[in-house]
Amino acid sequence: MSNARYLELARQQKKTEGVLQIAALPRLQEALRELGVSDDQALAGVSVAYQLQGLPARYFGDTQLPMLALAVQTDLPLVCQRCFAAMPQAMDVQFEFAICDEPPEALLEDEDVDWLESDAESTFESLVEDELLMALPIAVMHEQACAPLQNTAGEKPNPFAALKNLKLEK
Ligand SMILES: [Zn+2]
Repeated sequence: MSNARYLELARQQKKTEGVLQIAALPRLQEALRELGVSDDQALAGVSVAYQLQGLPARYFGDTQLPMLALAVQTDLPLVCQRCFAAMPQAMDVQFEFAICDEPPEALLEDEDVDWLESDAESTFESLVEDELLMALPIAVMHEQACAPLQNTAGEKPNPFAALKNLKLEK
């Protein structure tokens, strides 16, 4: 999606929506791996739905700027960083952008509105990535103790024993 397209959406207050596959979002993929997601199949199945909506132009100080709202939804196959049990996380993030080359002071001070250079070379995919990366939880962990750590008194379950049983059932 080009930046001319952003301006057109903003000016006409139109909406566009679609789905991005994770293959198009390498930085998100990398961030998920850093969070301990090692299930390639789960990772490959991640997709991100988006809606980009043109909003009425808004004043920042004396400057009126075209506005866009971006909403992004995805289900991330996160894992507990202590015990690596699956902790899938649904994400639903929304952002507003003003389109401009040089943001006025009032826009920089507005914490609810981001800005997008009208001639930026960045792709729409990298914009979606930026927003998801900012919203990504830093540490994903069970709030209480992780399940295997709770039976400290008894025997700890042996993951290899479980594996062995699986093999025997075949
Ligand atoms: Zn855990």
